[in-house]
Amino acid sequence: MGNQHQVKAKKHLGQHFLNDESIAKRIADTLSLKNYKTVLEIGPGTGVLTKYLLKKDITTHVIEIDTESVEYLKNNYLNLASRIIEKDFLKYDLNEVFKGEPFAIIGNFPYNISTQIVFKTLEMRDQIPEFSGMFQKEVAERICSKEGSKVYGILSVLAQAFYDAEYLFTVPPEVFNPPPKVESGVLRLTRKENYTLPCNDKLLFKVVKAAFQQRRKTLRNSLKIFNLSDNLREDVIFGKRPEQLSVQQFIELTQLIENDINE
Ligand code: SAH
Repeated sequence: MGNQHQVKAKKHLGQHFLNDESIAKRIADTLSLKNYKTVLEIGPGTGVLTKYLLKKDITTHVIEIDTESVEYLKNNYLNLASRIIEKDFLKYDLNEVFKGEPFAIIGNFPYNISTQIVFKTLEMRDQIPEFSGMFQKEVAERICSKEGSKVYGILSVLAQAFYDAEYLFTVPPEVFNPPPKVESGVLRLTRKENYTLPCNDKLLFKVVKAAFQQRRKTLRNSLKIFNLSDNLREDVIFGKRPEQLSVQQFIELTQLIENDINE
């Protein structure tokens, strides 16, 4: 309980320190420890989760933007000192440390940048076999949701194109200092064995983003920007709205568009 008195929570860094040891341990235990020897914790703060990671048979690195938290970690976790990266996760080139090797990601993430954390992970998916941790509940649910759900969107399709997504458990606001306004949710992403897609990845990202930018419209309308042939636009799939398409159907749609553009 003493930690929070030594590092004052800063709102602009999305700092909500976890106060509950059993939940911290439960989050650390979401790592399967398969297919990697290194884990990167994003936003360790005062190390509530880090101390459970350090007990595991794995090398733990942390990346933390807050100087005050970094000082605290250096003073209290002596065996971690050389593996603290004092940088912004979103801007730092992680291969300065990982040099192309695989690593897992874990964290009680800063909620103000949660979407960008997932996008950066997707960009680096070749090196990231597993990703687990805590988001706002709504974001965690969105990432794990299936077609037909109200919260199904860009993050759901793109994350699940490459990863199996599991919503694991919900965490109430009271176990944080200061408490956030919303509930939190812990999830795990496990990279699919055959995560190389049978379509162009970049085009998939563009198609999914364009489709969900106009959620209510049919794909025929929202995908006009691709200048598709009339012939393709008559395909029944273009009469659907984006939330009706499974991840697999988005991949097939991308293949159709790819062939059409190349003709
Ligand atoms: N894991 C700690 C702290 C969670 S709060 C706990 O559970 O108690 C989120 C943490 O992310 C804070 O320590 C904050 O300083 C850090 N953070 C915020 N933005 C960051 C960024 N861009 N890169 C790295 N760390 C960041």
